[in-house]
Amino acid sequence: MADLTTEQYQQKMQRRQEVQADRIANAIAEKGLVIVNTGNGKGKTTAALGMVLRSLGHGYRVAIIQYIKGAWEPAEKNVLSKFADQLEFHAMGEGFTWDTQDRDRDIQMAQAAWQKSLEYILDFNYRTILLDEVNVALKLGYLQIEEVLAGLRQKPANTHVILTGRGAPPELIEHADLVTEMQPLKHPFREQGIKAQPGIEF
Ligand code: ATP
Ligand code: MG
Repeated sequence: MADLTTEQYQQKMQRRQEVQADRIANAIAEKGLVIVNTGNGKGKTTAALGMVLRSLGHGYRVAIIQYIKGAWEPAEKNVLSKFADQLEFHAMGEGFTWDTQDRDRDIQMAQAAWQKSLEYILDFNYRTILLDEVNVALKLGYLQIEEVLAGLRQKPANTHVILTGRGAPPELIEHADLVTEMQPLKHPFREQGIKAQPGIEF
C-alpha cells in the first residue's frame, strides 16, 4: 500500500467499500445459529455469557443449562438473578460424579439435563439457549451426538443455541454455524501457578 499514490489509494478504498456494501446488502437478515465454543484455551464460557448478556439487553428470553457442577461460582449467578423475568437458569450438574464410579447415574443426570435443554430449545419464547459444558458430557459418552443433533435440527428458525466445552465432537462442528476454538497461548495458572481469581475466572 505504501507505494500507491493518494489517488490510487482512494480508488482502492472506494472499491473495498463497494464490495463490503454489496456483501452487507446481500446478507441474510436473521438466522438462529448453532454456536460452538471449544478448544483448550480459556474463554469458552465467558464468551457465551457475553452473548447471553447481549441477548438479555435486547429483551430476549434466555435459558442456561449448566452441565457440570461447580463450573460457575455465585458472581455470575448474582448478576444474572437480576434478570429473573427473562432468564431461566438450571444447574443440572449437581449430581454428576464425573469419575466413572457411578457411570449409570452420570448418564441419567446428563439425560435429564438434555431433556431440560430440549424443552427450551423447542420453546418459541426463548431466543438464546446456553448449554454450558455440554461438549464434555458428549465427549464422555454420557450423551449421544445423534440425539443432540436431532434436537438441534428441530429448533425454531430464530433460536440461537450455544454449546460450550472442550472436545466438541466433529459431527457437532460440522452441523454448527459458528465455531470458535480457543487456543491457549499463555495461562496464568499454567505459567505462573496463579490461582483462579474473582472477576477473571468466576
Ligand atoms: P472460562 O469459564 O474462564 O471462560 P472456559 O469455559 O474456556 O473458561 P473450562 O474448560 O470451562 O474453560 O475451564 C474452566 C476453568 O479452567 C477456568 O477457571 C479457566 O481459567 C481454567 N482454564 C481454562 N483453560 C486453561 C488452561 N489452558 N490451563 C489452565 N487452566 C485453564
Ligand atoms: Mg467453561
